[in-house]
Amino acid sequence: MKTTDRKGMNRRAFLKNGVAGTAAAMIATPALAESLMQMAKSEPPEFPAPVYRTLGRTGLKISTVSFGAMLTPEPEVLRVAFDHGVNYVNTSRKYMGGKNEITVGAAVKGIRDKVYIATKVLSESRTKADIIRDVETSLKTLGTDYIDVIQVHDLTGVTSALLAETKETLALLKKQGKVRFCGVTTHLNEVAVLNYLADDPDQFFDTCLVKYNFTSDKRVGTAISRAAKAGIGIIAMKTQVGGYDIAGLGKITQHQAALKWVLQNPDVTAAIPGMKDLTQLKEDIAVMGMSFTYADLRRLDRYAEAIAPFYCNFCGACEVGCPHGVEISTINRSLMYAEGGYRDIHLARTTYNELPQQTMASVCTGCQECTARCVNGLDIAAKMDRARKVLS
Ligand code: SF4
Ligand code: SF4
Repeated sequence: MKTTDRKGMNRRAFLKNGVAGTAAAMIATPALAESLMQMAKSEPPEFPAPVYRTLGRTGLKISTVSFGAMLTPEPEVLRVAFDHGVNYVNTSRKYMGGKNEITVGAAVKGIRDKVYIATKVLSESRTKADIIRDVETSLKTLGTDYIDVIQVHDLTGVTSALLAETKETLALLKKQGKVRFCGVTTHLNEVAVLNYLADDPDQFFDTCLVKYNFTSDKRVGTAISRAAKAGIGIIAMKTQVGGYDIAGLGKITQHQAALKWVLQNPDVTAAIPGMKDLTQLKEDIAVMGMSFTYADLRRLDRYAEAIAPFYCNFCGACEVGCPHGVEISTINRSLMYAEGGYRDIHLARTTYNELPQQTMASVCTGCQECTARCVNGLDIAAKMDRARKVLS
């Protein structure tokens, strides 16, 4: 290494590998420097020409691979993405104990007009006072005077979050210019939520951030299509089914194949894979413009086979079999945040602790035999036992 900056980064290699522009002027942390060094070893640089699609009736043209920032600790990583055409970022105040919005705010400084920011009100916020407080806090934390897409978070059905009060408050915030568009997010009962959005006579919500991947039920694809036809912008999350690292599946990684599978659906505007560092960024944005192939399908078959013994797709089908109302799907999602590719114990515990106490894994101790049945054959009692150990 010839010239090394104060954080140990070879800046010449950094620039040579296409990590140029405004990001180069930002300060690198030791973890980022390590990522950059890894990238410097690979030739040639692999930042593709970005591909854009229109986000439903919002009219926003956003990159098909957009940025899920939930796991990203450093603004420089986001900035590299923005320098290479990624122009939509999804964050939340609950990520990283509130620090994630600060990171996103730092990354868009000076280029705010080039990046669309989506964030969320907290899951439990449904009243006017709660929603206004959440939006004002996010504006302050992000260091911006408007949010492009504000999302009502984690809908599991079509009732509580869609109360007139929620809509009226969001409409007020729009009128005040504090938010531009409104959306929802959903991990459970996605079909019902998407159909609600499609059929809503007010056509109030403009976007839906929805769990969608190659393990999704076909009915989710059908509901996505309906919602997209009604003008809802569809953004896919949980696209890489936990981001588990399974070795030996080929040059195109299983994560890339999974992203390609989602983006082959023209009704999906974009995916927002979580990208912790430059290595993951490079891996994910490389798929923009690539086609989904038969080889990808084979790779996903092998990936599905490898994760089948432990992967829960949060379908919720087992929950009717539990007499105690344990929220098995959300508990398993929390466990995945802790032990899957996320490795984020804070996010895992935050998600878990949002559950009402009477539905947590701690309730699940008195059954002689678990009567909840997993459609994929998972041992639910063992999962709940693991959740108690990891998340409590
Ligand atoms: S063991 Fe737990 S998940 Fe299974 S039925 Fe009993 S309370 Fe429900
Ligand atoms: S444990 Fe099985 S049935 Fe229950 S949510 Fe997960 S995949 Fe669905």
